[in-house]
Amino acid sequence: MSDTTTNNRETLGFQAEVKQLLQLMIHSLYSNREIFLRELISNAADASDKLRFEALHNAALFENDSELNIRIAYDKAARTLTISDNGIGMSRDEVINNLGTIAKSGTREFFARLSGDQQKDANLIGQFGVGFYSAFIVADKVTVTTRRAGEKSDQGVRWESDGSGEFTIEMQDKAARGTEIVLHLREGQDDLLSGQKIRTIIRKYSDHIVQPIVMKKEEWKDGAQQMLDEDETVNKAFALWARAKSEISDEEYREFYKHVGHDFQDPLAWTHARVEGRQEYTQLLYIPSRAPFDMWERDAIHGVKLYVRRVFIMDDAEQLMPRYMRFVRGVVDSSDLPLNVSREILQESKDIESIRKGCTNKVLALLEDLAKSDAEKYAKFWGEFGRVLKEGIGEDQANKDKIAGLLRLASTHADTAEETVALADYVGRMKEGQDKIYYITADSFNAAKNSPHLEVFRKKGIEVLLLSDRVDEWVVTNLFEFQGKSLISVAKGGLDLGQLEDEAEKKEQENIANEMKELTDKIKSSLAERVKEVRVTHRLTESPACLVADEHDMSANLARLLKSAGQKAPVAQPILEINPKHPVVLRLKTEEKKFDDWVAVLFDQALLAEGGQLDDPASFVKRVNQLMLEMSGS
Ligand code: ADP
Repeated sequence: MSDTTTNNRETLGFQAEVKQLLQLMIHSLYSNREIFLRELISNAADASDKLRFEALHNAALFENDSELNIRIAYDKAARTLTISDNGIGMSRDEVINNLGTIAKSGTREFFARLSGDQQKDANLIGQFGVGFYSAFIVADKVTVTTRRAGEKSDQGVRWESDGSGEFTIEMQDKAARGTEIVLHLREGQDDLLSGQKIRTIIRKYSDHIVQPIVMKKEEWKDGAQQMLDEDETVNKAFALWARAKSEISDEEYREFYKHVGHDFQDPLAWTHARVEGRQEYTQLLYIPSRAPFDMWERDAIHGVKLYVRRVFIMDDAEQLMPRYMRFVRGVVDSSDLPLNVSREILQESKDIESIRKGCTNKVLALLEDLAKSDAEKYAKFWGEFGRVLKEGIGEDQANKDKIAGLLRLASTHADTAEETVALADYVGRMKEGQDKIYYITADSFNAAKNSPHLEVFRKKGIEVLLLSDRVDEWVVTNLFEFQGKSLISVAKGGLDLGQLEDEAEKKEQENIANEMKELTDKIKSSLAERVKEVRVTHRLTESPACLVADEHDMSANLARLLKSAGQKAPVAQPILEINPKHPVVLRLKTEEKKFDDWVAVLFDQALLAEGGQLDDPASFVKRVNQLMLEMSGS
């Protein structure tokens, strides 16, 4: 990484992803340029929080200055804007890591997906989080001087870059701990060199920051703005979540979210409450409007910050929220936990368990409310986070029914994968005599929708849920019933339509099965070990045959999922069901010479129709071609 060194000064190159981020950001976020100040103030506030927390164990870090604040100053002549804090500061190594690389996992993949389409990329960049690098939207040179709290003044570090590809770093004396960021403004940014403009931006985006944001007072004198030697706090400087709900505007809630959520977009919804009783705490929890780019990364962070009596304790307090709610962002502020609480203590703490329960219930109630009051917003939520929430069906026994009520699933009731239905609506539409909720799992919406297993359901007008998310197999292994109606796979076990069939139909089916017994036996001996059983079915109206899994065997879809994930799945033999009215099946009755070939093709196409893979595709093709030639009389 090191290129040139003069004295203690080094020139280093940015990580490739940082270069890409800088390029994209400057261009795609230009119309939103003011957010740079929000991002830098947000970082300064986090740095103060971290210092206050570390100082709980080591008061010397305060260096006799425990008044934490953030200062903003501008210099018209030099055309600079300066943001400084007396927070935790950074060591040399930290500067190189934090301001030269992006540490988040999945970053490379994320950038590989970007298209260069500005509109789209602006949203994506926002989703990624812009942070410190947003300084380059308005500055063509950025100088950072910083010293970590507790280090000697000669341990200061100076970092400088024009944002094009490299930065320099050198040691520099710094008397005051913390970080100072000087932005050398680009051409055309001079409107930012105004006390009034800066104050407006601060009040708009950063009013909720807990630390005072301080500027020099100014007054009009002799027709010009004069800076006084007196400080003024520009923001409210009071923990937003500790204020009364009635006094907080939606706008303030939104801006606070962008700070705690490191997000660029407005949140979808939030819930704010003070909980009293055995545990006293305040919760302010948000549902983002977009999934973060790394939601599926194993080590992606949870988004809830823990405070104790308004002192920041930790980010990413994963114990505060169940895994299936890892998309929730916000703050929990406990009145009871000790200030020196550690992650290890959190893991075992009964108090945390009760906070987690309370937060989980709050979020579920918020979602129920959203589903009822604003279907469009709820659909948006579902599109972004539905697959995560589904994990809760298996993870949270206590809330399984509530989560089931929140599910939105594709169904034969609609035409597209996007038009989903709630289980309660399904139950409301059930046919007279129907006492089960039917579903099919497959590896895509189309495979589910066109599955031969649905034929009889379509004929009788019975709705079937079409489940094609990977996580759906997990949902149905854990969800046995909803509102007293059991969930039944249409691709497993014998088809029992119960009251949906009359006695005459059942009698006829029995007769047919008896008549066909000779044929089904013959097919079974031809397929031998490939199938567990061969039987007649009435679930098909168009297809000649289909495969079903035995009642207690794993579904074929789940077996394939496990296999593709490199896991071992028990090999379950399928049951071949044949349609006694289909001409191909009828033709089989009289086939002698080619019987085995016909049966092999029948089996293979049933396997293909449900999304399976053939063991020996070449033989299948050969057989089909031979049969085609015979039909055409050659
Ligand atoms: P993010 O804040 O999302 O982590 P940034 O790019 O904004 O990403 O910042 C990267 C890191 O640099 C921060 O996580 C923090 O560790 C460090 N940092 C940035 N600004 C400051 C500051 N004012 N004081 C101390 N550390 C800072």
